[in-house]
Amino acid sequence: MNSLPASSTSAAGLSRGSSAAPESVIVLGGGALGASIATHLAQAGASVTLATAGELCDGASSRSLSWLNSAGDRSPAYHALRVHGIDRYRTLFAADPSCEWLRFSGGLWWGTDASSAATHDRHAGEIGRGYASELLDRGEVARRFPDLDTGVIAPEAIVNPGEGWVSLPHLVEHLAAKLRDLGGTITTGLGPCSLIVEDGRAIGIRDQRGAEHRAGAVVVACGAKTPAVMNRAGVDIPDGSPLSMMVTTDPVDAEAPVMNTPRAAVRPNPGGSFCVDHDWYVGDIVEHEDGTCTIDESIVAELLEEASRLFAGGVSLTAARWAAGRKPIPGDGEPVLGAVGALPGCYVAFTHSGATLALIAGEMVTHEVMTGNRHPMLASFSPDRFAS
Ligand SMILES: Cc1cc2nc3c(=O)[nH]c(=O)nc-3n(C[C@H](O)[C@H](O)[C@H](O)COP(=O)(O)OP(=O)(O)OC[C@H]3O[C@@H](n4cnc5c(N)ncnc54)[C@H](O)[C@@H]3O)c2cc1C
Repeated sequence: MNSLPASSTSAAGLSRGSSAAPESVIVLGGGALGASIATHLAQAGASVTLATAGELCDGASSRSLSWLNSAGDRSPAYHALRVHGIDRYRTLFAADPSCEWLRFSGGLWWGTDASSAATHDRHAGEIGRGYASELLDRGEVARRFPDLDTGVIAPEAIVNPGEGWVSLPHLVEHLAAKLRDLGGTITTGLGPCSLIVEDGRAIGIRDQRGAEHRAGAVVVACGAKTPAVMNRAGVDIPDGSPLSMMVTTDPVDAEAPVMNTPRAAVRPNPGGSFCVDHDWYVGDIVEHEDGTCTIDESIVAELLEEASRLFAGGVSLTAARWAAGRKPIPGDGEPVLGAVGALPGCYVAFTHSGATLALIAGEMVTHEVMTGNRHPMLASFSPDRFAS
């Protein structure tokens, strides 16, 4: 796969020729959002540095379920953004359908109160929003997904055939290669950086050793650390990032769609393994003073037992590794994307569902940086909504 989807960046003819376009841009944070924004900026002709505290993809993007979806209920604007976000992945996939780290194998969901009004309501809501959604009985689900155990499937479940999954470490690697090809710079190991603000304008970043890196614009995409970075520069962005933990299994001989079930969420992963997470054990995750997180191995084993039960044929999932940490979620649950009115020269990308949104956020934040205009689809997600 050699390129990003044809994006509004090129479609709108954005280039350094625009009078609003900054000479140079620093994108702070080397996760999926930062890598996507930096690559889209480079594609639009900007001189870009992707700068990050440690290694690329060492945050939430390294431990994400990364189910590409807009299932369930949410605001119309957020739904539209997510659906377009999935569209960008489809374009990427079309360029190389053999790509093993991006697949559209569909999604399968059932709730706790099976066959309940809640399942029917969820399905009706999805249909009403034009989202592909099939309400199926247990037998039909088992026919579609023969590796699942019919006995554990709820009497009724929802299949969303348009959904997929991405492995974010692979995506970040892909984007970083593209960024380098486009002449962008990647600087790792800077330690936690802060914004440099002069005369009320963001003019660069200061790294942990005090070195200054200046640029015409700075995009802050520091995952769950974004509110702290912005707060230090005097910009309030409420934080609702919870603890989370994801397990990657050893390879097994079984196939499944992305599954969201009452006790385990499971997605396929390159190489025949699965990624598994849920939220019932959040209270068991311990966050230490240095920001690292641990969880008792017995919880990992219990989660994998729950996930193994979903499969027929005695499939037994074992943990190859697991990782815990904060899952980036803004305080009001909605994405925070785009220009910061109170701090000219500064842009933010901080969102839940950052896997689904990574490509489209890169494209639309780039539009704002390069044109100086708000992207219409980001109007409801402006960081300025928190300004008092
Ligand atoms: C368990 C789990 C399940 C998820 N499931 C899904 C899902 O099913 N679907 C979906 O769409 N999304 C999902 N997400 C969300 C998605 O993975 C994240 O939104 C996305 O990975 C965030 O990417 P990011 O680039 O914003 O942040 P990160 O990947 O956290 O990257 C931020 C980077 O910034 C660096 N950094 C932080 N502070 C500083 C600083 N001060 N200076 C320099 N660098 C700094 C970090 O080291 C890190 O490299 C899930 C997340 C988790 C954790």
